[in-house]
Amino acid sequence: MDKALELRKIKEDMENDRNLPLIAKPEDVIPGDGNADSEIVFIGEAGGYHESIQRKPFVGNAGMLLNRLLASIHLPRGSVYITNMVKTRPPENRDPLPEELEAYSRYLDRELEVIKPKVVVTLGRFSMAKFLPNARISGVHGKKFEVNWNGKNILVVPMYHPAAALRNGAVMEQIKNDFLKIPEYLKEAENKEREVKTEQTQLF
Ligand code: URA
Repeated sequence: MDKALELRKIKEDMENDRNLPLIAKPEDVIPGDGNADSEIVFIGEAGGYHESIQRKPFVGNAGMLLNRLLASIHLPRGSVYITNMVKTRPPENRDPLPEELEAYSRYLDRELEVIKPKVVVTLGRFSMAKFLPNARISGVHGKKFEVNWNGKNILVVPMYHPAAALRNGAVMEQIKNDFLKIPEYLKEAENKEREVKTEQTQLF
């Protein structure tokens, strides 16, 4: 099946899942957004007011900053895929609860299974914890980690959440610098995949 169609199916499945927390009506779902063929996926925490109105991740102030950071490395927003750990807006924009993260995780897993990104950029501590449960963001932001996720190697790059950068000038400088490393990581992941393919061809 076409990747975009598979992603639409995931959205519909969430809208019809009566067991998902924080959903009163199907329109409460804020699905992932962007290019289904992207090599890179950005994962935030959960939508806020603007996201819940537009039903798109990262369209408020944090989203404007994310767009600028993407532009700084010549990645148009439409060329990448952006999603959240929790695909609804928690009340008062509070942190997602463990049971909410757990309930939505299988939908995020399905998105990753469809897109098969080479690089995953986690924005904030909740998405970082999915791949690097013992890491502290202050020690690892901007670094790359090769993670075996569901049998596939992906490069995970933890970053501060853009909303944290809007609140703190030092974090803003760090996230700007961390983003500049993304093109190099993407190239590295592409080269690694090419090497693996070459090795496999030589074997047969
Ligand atoms: N913060 C997030 O983590 N996700 C959004 O979609 C918007 C703000």
